[in-house]
Amino acid sequence: MRRISIFGATGSIGENTVDLIDRQGGAATHQVVALTGGRNIARLAEQARNLRAQLAVTCEPTLYGALKDALAGSGVEAAAGPEALVEAADRPADWTMSAIVGAAGLAPGFRALRHGGTLALANKESLVAAGPLLLAEAAEHGATILPVDSEHSAVFQALVGEDMAAVERVIITASGGPFRDWPMERLARATVAEARAHPNWSMGLRISIDSATLFNKALELIETREYFGIDPEQIEAVVHPQSIVHALVGFRDGGLMAHLGPPDMRHAIGYALNWPERRPVPVERLDLARLGSLTFQAPDEARFPALRLARAVMAMRGLAGAAFNAAKETALDAFLDGRLGFLGMAAAVEETLARLDAAEGLTNPPASLDTVLQMDHLARREAASVINEAAVAAGA
Ligand code: NDP
Repeated sequence: MRRISIFGATGSIGENTVDLIDRQGGAATHQVVALTGGRNIARLAEQARNLRAQLAVTCEPTLYGALKDALAGSGVEAAAGPEALVEAADRPADWTMSAIVGAAGLAPGFRALRHGGTLALANKESLVAAGPLLLAEAAEHGATILPVDSEHSAVFQALVGEDMAAVERVIITASGGPFRDWPMERLARATVAEARAHPNWSMGLRISIDSATLFNKALELIETREYFGIDPEQIEAVVHPQSIVHALVGFRDGGLMAHLGPPDMRHAIGYALNWPERRPVPVERLDLARLGSLTFQAPDEARFPALRLARAVMAMRGLAGAAFNAAKETALDAFLDGRLGFLGMAAAVEETLARLDAAEGLTNPPASLDTVLQMDHLARREAASVINEAAVAAGA
C-alpha cells in the first residue's frame, strides 16, 4: 500500500489533495502516515479519522489538548508544534504533499526528502528561499520533487520527452488578479476583502492576496528559475485574464507548447499524485468554442512592482530569495492587520531588500537550511522596522 503524508492538509491545496485521495479509495488504498494542519483542529481530526492516519499534527503547541480530545478513541496519535511537524516528516512516506503556507513549510519538506520518495511541492516558498539546497537534498537521497503550482506543473508537462537544451524560453501566465485594471489611486485604497476576491481561482487567503499584488507571480518567476534551471532572461510572465493557459514552453525551432486546463488545482495535484501515469481527475473539461477567446497582455510593472523586484532578486541570487519571501510575508501580515496599505507592501519589500543589500551574506550561496532560516529571521526583523517607520511617518 502506498504510504502518504499531507502537510497543510486543512488548507486549500490540502483539502483538494484529500478529495483526490478519497476518490482513489482513501484509507482502503493508502496508508496515511501523517496529516498536519494549523488552527482548524476539528477538520484535521475529521480528516485523520476518515483516512485512518497514524499521526495528526497541529503547528500550534497550544492546541495540542484540543487535538488530542478531538482524536480520542480514534487510535490516531496527536502531536503539536513546529518540531512535531519535522518529526512527522521523519516518518517514511512514499508520497508527501508539501502544502503548508509560507516559510514554515521549508523544514518539513526538506526532511521528507530523506526517504527518497516523491515530494509534491505546492509550497513555492521552499524553492524561492532555498532552491539549490532543496534540489541537492533531493538528489542526494534519490527523491523526486514534482511541482504542484499550476504553472510549473504545466511547464513540467510541456517538457515531457523534450531536451532542455532545446528550450528557448518559458512563459508563465498570471490572471492579473482582482485589480488588473485598477488605477493607482484606487489601488492605494484597496481593502483586504477586495484583494482576496480572486476572479478565477479559489485559494487560501495569503496566496489570494499575493495574486492581487502579483507577488505570487514574482515568487513563481523565481520558482521557475530554480526548478527548471533556466536563466532569468528566458522566463517571461504574461497576463492572461481567463486563467486557461497556465504556461507555455518555447523551443529553438520557434514552436510553442501550451498547457491548457480549467482553473482547478486538482489537475496539478492529480498529475503529481498519479505521475508518471495519468488517471481520471474530476475537473471540468474545457469547451473551447464556449470560451471563445483567450487574451494576453503585458504586465504593468509600474502598478505591480513585484515582478521587477523578483528580477532583482534573481540577479542577486544567494540568500536574496529567502529575504524577499520573508519581507513579503511580513508586509502581507501588516496589510492583513491594517498597518500597511496595498501599495505599501511592495514598497516595504523593496526598502527591506535595499537595506539588507549592504548586509553581509545576502548574496552568499545558501550553505545550509540554518543559514536560510537566519536570513528569513533577519529580513522579517528589517521589514518590521521598515513597516513601523512607515506607520510612524504616516502618523498611524
Ligand atoms: P491555506 O492557507 O489554505 O492552507 C495552509 C495550510 O497550512 C493549512 O493546513 C494551515 O492550517 C497550515 N498552516 C498555516 N500556518 C502554518 C504554520 N505556521 N505551520 C504549519 N502549518 C501551517 O494555503 P493554500 O492551500 O492556499 O497554500 C498552501 C501552499 O500552496 C502555499 O505555499 C501556496 O503558495 C501554494 N499554492 C497554493 C495554491 C492554491 O490554489 N491554493 C496554488 C499553488 C500553490 P489551518 O488552516 O488549519 O490553520
